[in-house]
Amino acid sequence: MEFNFSNTFIEQLPSDDVLDNHRRQVFEATHSYVTPKVPTHPKLVHVSETMLNALGLTSKDAMSQEFLDVFSGKKIYPNTKPYAMAYAGHQFGNWAGQLGDGRAINLFEVINDQKRWVIQLKGAGETPYSRQGDGLAVLRSSIREYLCSEAMYHLGIPTTRALSLMLTGDDVLRDMLYDGNAAYEKGAVVTRVAPSFIRFGNFELFAARKDHKNLKILTDYTIRHFYPELGESSKETYIEFFRAVTSKTLEMVIHWQRVGFVHGVMNTDNMSILGLTIDYGPYGWLEGFDFGWTPNTTDAQNKRYRFGNQPNIALWNLMQLANALYPLIEETKPLEDILQEFSSQFEEQSIKMMRSKLGLINKENEDQNLMERLEECLLLTETDMTLFFRLLSQFKKGKSENALEIVSDSFYKPEELSETIKSQWQQWFKDYNQRLKNESLNDSERQIEMNKVNPKYVLRNYMAQLAIDAADNGDYSVLDELYSVLKKPYDEQPKFKKWFAKRPEWARHKVGCSMLSCSS
Ligand code: AMP
Ligand code: MG
Repeated sequence: MEFNFSNTFIEQLPSDDVLDNHRRQVFEATHSYVTPKVPTHPKLVHVSETMLNALGLTSKDAMSQEFLDVFSGKKIYPNTKPYAMAYAGHQFGNWAGQLGDGRAINLFEVINDQKRWVIQLKGAGETPYSRQGDGLAVLRSSIREYLCSEAMYHLGIPTTRALSLMLTGDDVLRDMLYDGNAAYEKGAVVTRVAPSFIRFGNFELFAARKDHKNLKILTDYTIRHFYPELGESSKETYIEFFRAVTSKTLEMVIHWQRVGFVHGVMNTDNMSILGLTIDYGPYGWLEGFDFGWTPNTTDAQNKRYRFGNQPNIALWNLMQLANALYPLIEETKPLEDILQEFSSQFEEQSIKMMRSKLGLINKENEDQNLMERLEECLLLTETDMTLFFRLLSQFKKGKSENALEIVSDSFYKPEELSETIKSQWQQWFKDYNQRLKNESLNDSERQIEMNKVNPKYVLRNYMAQLAIDAADNGDYSVLDELYSVLKKPYDEQPKFKKWFAKRPEWARHKVGCSMLSCSS
C-alpha cells in the first residue's frame, strides 16, 4: 500500500507541542498529535471501491494485513503523525467553547490524480478533545455514516466520503435513548476521507480566544489550498472567502432540500468550510413530506434542525462564521451584505431546483405559485416525498385526469383520501398540465430530465436499520445490497425495486427508523 504524501496541514499549521491523548484545553494550535487506540480484534466489514480507486488503491490493497492494521488504528503507517484537530462551536444555538476531534483521528494527507485527501479514523479512541466521551463509535452509527456518506456522494451532493468500515472487536457502552438503560454494543471504526475536515468551528475557536495571529494563519491556509482562485491574502480576499463559503453552503443545503435529507445536528462544528455534508449522526430522510420533521430526538422540543429550517440555520451558522472572520476584516458592511444576499439567493436557487424536480425548463412568473400549491397538496395527507417526485415523471401531457393514479403509491393511506383532498390534487394536476403546454420537451424527454434530479433510491431510515440489525448478527448482506443500490440512485435498477417503496408500518415508531438520539 503506497501513498503520495503531502502533509500540508501539519506542516503549515501550528501544533500543540506534546504527543499526548489526555483531555485538556489546547491553545494556539490547530491540532494535537495523538496515538489511535489499538483495537482488540479488528475485522474489515466493508470497503468503498470508488473511494479505494480515488485514492489509487486496489482491491488487493484492501485485502492486505496492512490495510486492516492502518485503517483500524492498530498500526501507524511509517513516517506519519496522526493528529486530532482543535475546534469550537455553537451547539443548538449556544456557545459551547472548545470541542475538537473527540473521536476522530487524522492519519495523513495524500495526493492522487491531483486531488488532495485527508484520511481520518472515526472511533479510534480518546484525544485531548474527547471531553466526557470515550472517543469510540458503535457499529450502529458507523454503518449509518458509512452508507449515507457514500450514498450522498452518488447522489451528487457535496459530502465527506468513507473508505472502509471495520469492527474493532471491542465492546462499547452506550445509553442509546438516554433513558438510563446503557448496554454494550459492538465497537467500530469508519475511515473517512475528505479534501479537508476544517469546520466553521476551527475559526470560531481562535476568534473566541482573540488569537488573531492563528486565526489568520488558519484562514490563509484554507484559502491557499481550497480557494486558491481568490489569490493573495488581503481584507478583500477574506471577504471573498466568506462569500465563497456562503455560496458553497447554500448549494449544499439546496441539495439537501432537493432529496429530503435532514442533517439533524447543524451545529457550527458540523459545518464544513468546503460546504461538504459532514458528521452523519442522527440524520434522516423525509418519508412523509413535512417541513417540521426532525429525526433527532435530542432536538424534539424545539426542532431547531427540522427539514424546513435548514436554510435558516445555514444562514445563522454563516453569521457565526462572519463573526469569527471579522477580526481579519474589521468591517461589518461587506459581511452583512453577503448574509443579506443569502436569503434572496436561496429563494432563487430553491425555485430553480423545484423547477428541475417538476421537469420545467422555461422560467415563468407563476411557477412559484404552482410550487407553493404543490407543497400544500403534499401536506394534505402523508405523502412520500421520494416516491411522489419519481412517480410524477410518468405524468403524460393532456392526461391530468389520470395523474392521481400515477402518484397514488406515494400516499401512505390512499384509501383514506377524501373527496376534498382529491379535488385539490386534481386542480393542481390540471394547472401543472397547463404549465407543461408551454414546455417543448415531450413526455419521455421530460421524464429523463426529472429522473436525473429525483432519486429513485435513498437511504430510508428503516433501510439503514435493517442493515444494522443484520450486521449486529454478523450478516452483512443487507449492508452490501444497500451499498450497491445506492451507488446508482437515479437508475431504475428493477432488481432492487423492493427499496422503491414507502416505509413499512412496523418502522413508523421504531427506534432507529423514525427517531434517533445523538448517542453514537
Ligand atoms: P457531534 O455533534 O456528534 O458531531 O459531536 C460534538 C462533539 O462531541 C465533537 O467535538 C465530537 O468529537 C464529540 N464527541 C461525540 N461523540 C464522542 C465520543 N464518543 N467521544 C468523544 N468525543 C465525542
Ligand atoms: Mg461533529
